[in-house]
Amino acid sequence: MKISLGLPLPGAGALASGVSSSRATPLVPASLVGLADKYGRRATDMRLSLTDKCNLRCTYCMPADGLDWLTKQHVMTGNEIVRLVRIGVEQLGIRELRLTGGEPLVRADLVNIIRAIRTSHADLPISLTTNALGLEKKAQALKDAGLTRINVSLDSLHPDTFAQLTRRPVLNRVMAGVEEADRVGLGLIKINAVLMRGVNDNEAPQLLDWALTRGFELRFIEQMPLDADHGWTRKGMISAAEIRQLLEPDFVLTPDRRQREGAPAERWEVRRRGAGGAPGVKVAGTVGIIASVTEPFCSDCRRTRITAEGKVRSCLFSHEETDLLGLLRAEADDGVIARRWQEAMWGKPKAHGMDNTGLDSADYVQPERTMSAIGG
Ligand code: SAM
Ligand code: SF4
Repeated sequence: MKISLGLPLPGAGALASGVSSSRATPLVPASLVGLADKYGRRATDMRLSLTDKCNLRCTYCMPADGLDWLTKQHVMTGNEIVRLVRIGVEQLGIRELRLTGGEPLVRADLVNIIRAIRTSHADLPISLTTNALGLEKKAQALKDAGLTRINVSLDSLHPDTFAQLTRRPVLNRVMAGVEEADRVGLGLIKINAVLMRGVNDNEAPQLLDWALTRGFELRFIEQMPLDADHGWTRKGMISAAEIRQLLEPDFVLTPDRRQREGAPAERWEVRRRGAGGAPGVKVAGTVGIIASVTEPFCSDCRRTRITAEGKVRSCLFSHEETDLLGLLRAEADDGVIARRWQEAMWGKPKAHGMDNTGLDSADYVQPERTMSAIGG
């Protein structure tokens, strides 16, 4: 399918396309505060990818054979990561840090990176998005280093379905990781689940029941067209509306009235249904649904993304990237790096163009980078 994101293509003009470069273009205000963009948003939530490598091969993310991994020299070192975080927090108003990948747990220096960030930023919430493989051995050290909490990606509670989705038969190890994280107090644990039609969509109520029972917060994520195999289709994906329908026989969902405050997930209060399908009395907890495709939340987006090789992406679906690693390695001043980052974010597109209308009118181009290489 020929699809176009509805954004200007690279080379169509630096500012119009959101491309930022070392030259301060005249339309970027000289007196920018924080990571503002020209649509009035300000990014305060930093998503930082620590690696593009992963030990699973989730079908909606990675090809079976993996990808051509970055070589070590192209990946930011621990010191470079710590410096970028410091610049983000001290100069650009970053208030929250999420470490992701690829799989961040495959980085041998993960605990040291977190410890170093925590030493400089006592109050910064630091979370980790992980597939939990190997977490069993590292949870305590991560907690001790100053990690605030984790998000675990878990799409199935059945070993065979899990193996089909991730192409690795390791559900028991993932579960051991979740248990240990819970034991050491890396909570509130959030569970991310992507539903795939005909594979695990029948598990939606079971996943929610399990998460509620364990005191975890489950968030369903709509499958996005960011997979390496280009297997995503609009018809094939399970929409937020459908996810709510899948939960309905077992749960009563009512909108959670709390402020969303830039969170990607729309939260719902859930009650288990009583006998005969009657609504239960007690609120059992909440469920989140991240409807990036069908109910996008671009107008309130507060995220800035840095890839493992130190490139700013103002949006998950962006076609533009701005290199900061070159500046770091050229020993540029903090102010120069901060300014380049600001310029990149100033060009953040208004929206990803991937709503229902855009898709149906073939108005979306999949970025070259896949989810694992961006840092989801
Ligand atoms: N490896 C870690 C993990 O799986 O949690 C961190 C990186 S992964 C790219 C981050 C999140 O992106 C996971 O929750 C995963 O389910 C989600 N993800 C990956 N590909 C996706 C896609 N095509 N659509 C929606 N979510 C996706
Ligand atoms: Fe790896 Fe996470 Fe992608 Fe699955 S979703 S392949 S665990 S990076």
